[in-house]
Amino acid sequence: MPFFDAPDFDHHEQVVFAHDATTGLKAIIAIHDTTLGPGMGGCRFWPYASDRDALTDVLRLSRGMTYKSALAGLPLGGGKAVVIGDARRVKTPQLLQALGRAIDRLGGRYITAEDVGTSPDDMAHIATTTRFVAGIDSHGISGDPSPYTARGVFLGVRAAVRHRLGADTLAGVHVAVQGLGHVGQALCEDLHAAGARLTVTDIATERCHRLAARLGAQAVAPEAIYDVVADVFAPCALGAIINESTLPRLKVAIIAGAANNQLATGDLALVLKSHGILYAPDYAINAGGIIRVCREYLGNTDSVDDEVVKIYDTLSHLFAMADDHNISTLEAADARARARLTNGR
Ligand code: NAD
Repeated sequence: MPFFDAPDFDHHEQVVFAHDATTGLKAIIAIHDTTLGPGMGGCRFWPYASDRDALTDVLRLSRGMTYKSALAGLPLGGGKAVVIGDARRVKTPQLLQALGRAIDRLGGRYITAEDVGTSPDDMAHIATTTRFVAGIDSHGISGDPSPYTARGVFLGVRAAVRHRLGADTLAGVHVAVQGLGHVGQALCEDLHAAGARLTVTDIATERCHRLAARLGAQAVAPEAIYDVVADVFAPCALGAIINESTLPRLKVAIIAGAANNQLATGDLALVLKSHGILYAPDYAINAGGIIRVCREYLGNTDSVDDEVVKIYDTLSHLFAMADDHNISTLEAADARARARLTNGR
């Protein structure tokens, strides 16, 4: 398949196809940009419909990591790994060790961590064959970055509500949350504690109904989430869920959630703006996890809480910048991240 003219190829420094016949490993590791430091980004385990889909995902995700770390002021570049397959069926310690060997061969240019389909336990297996891995449980402290991501998203929702609705509190604000996994659940707890009204959905129906019952939320079917009339839509499942078919259905003032690559294409940020929907750029609002994983990897986590709190200010600044220059919030975020990369060069 043609590669260098693929729509999502963005001058990536290195893309590696890793295969191990013994364990069945089929993975792609993409290093987008190492100007500011080694490319760090999670390892996604997913049953992609095709190798092309996996390649598209890893190209987009690794680019997003470059921008995310640059915007968060971290000494990191952007990278990502995807493993092709159903984690429940093919993920074994041996396969993860083979992935660790592939990562090790990159000599530290890529550092992995968890993402959808992988866990701190998986990182521990990878760590037996490479030291270029973060997000591992150690000394009774969880390596899971999700609580930090959720915290950042919560603060980002507050910043967006302040900017778009002029409210300093989330009391009574209606938030529709898509995806109740590691981040989505923690986010719902914080939103509930802040007095928000919740509508929730997940393809894992039982989990969805349990959470709804516990937090007094309304549960809806996965497809119905796009039709919910709410103040905020918080996508916390997978990417590309804002697209030409879902966008006309949205009846919200704000989109602010954890999922990476929420927009099917970047130009939709301008369409959202023209619809009066305030979009919190995904890589700005969901940086809490990478902040935590970066500091853990570098050996000092003292500044993590302060850095996560700054997500509120970063988003407030991006919203103001977008208004001042009449550009989309995504253009504002891209411009700020690119300026950091240019300075780094
Ligand atoms: P997770 O796998 O724990 O949870 C994802 C949830 O989404 C699952 O419960 C799944 O059943 C649900 N889901 C999948 N497809 C769905 C659909 N069509 N409709 C409704 N629900 C659906 O993942 P997570 O760690 O909570 O991450 C969520 C998102 O946030 C991902 O896009 C991830 O890349 C992004 N993200 C996560 C972190 C982190 O620290 N975990 C950091 C940055 C970004």
